[in-house]
Amino acid sequence: MQSQDRHRVVAIDGPAASGKSSVARELARRLGFVYVNSGAMYRAVTWHVLQHGVDPADNPRVIQLIESAPITCDLQNNESRILIDDVDPADRLRDDRVNDGVALVSRIPRVREILVEKLRSYVRDRDLVMEGRDIGSVVFPDTPYKFYIDASPEVRRRRRALQGGRDSIASRDRADSSRSASPLVIAKDADFIDTSNLTIAEVIAEIISRLKLKNLRGLA
Ligand code: C5P
Repeated sequence: MQSQDRHRVVAIDGPAASGKSSVARELARRLGFVYVNSGAMYRAVTWHVLQHGVDPADNPRVIQLIESAPITCDLQNNESRILIDDVDPADRLRDDRVNDGVALVSRIPRVREILVEKLRSYVRDRDLVMEGRDIGSVVFPDTPYKFYIDASPEVRRRRRALQGGRDSIASRDRADSSRSASPLVIAKDADFIDTSNLTIAEVIAEIISRLKLKNLRGLA
């Protein structure tokens, strides 16, 4: 199923606003790995659903639309990029309506199946740092490099408020943790890091020291 014999995957999972993206992007840069933001893919297909006037809660129509959507996943500056109908919706992924709809779209098993296949295809060519909700539990369960990062609800609310926009992270977390398809869980073999009182640099240093203990090749 996976070609991890040749390419390594560092999986970083956690709830909304736990600091995953900042940590994963910088970690990838430090390791010279590709950074893959799986949440951006779920957001991009949600944007596509909304652009077509489809209700994110209407599972059959969402599935029909996504099954027929021309979705291209490639790389730009060593980071994952998703194009739908040749459009890059990167600027729209944090819109309120996407924040509100993404947990509905991503709980649909067929949607996950389509996106998981695309996420796995990234490992064919490159070493990866991939962040999300189910990377260590479902997408790359065999990787030995799994981290689950979290922070207190208050710290996460504050971090998201600083980024601006309206994002009900509590209700998104509830939906992501309680859905039946690939819920947000702490993989049993993941290293847990509480980032509430840590800076991004400190979290990265912690992960790198744990990767050294796990004998990840190529670390200084
Ligand atoms: O990581 P981010 O907060 O941008 O993810 C947005 C949403 O995408 C999550 O709240 C979740 O509903 C969905 N998601 C998912 N599985 C992933 C990544 C994101 O279901 N691996």
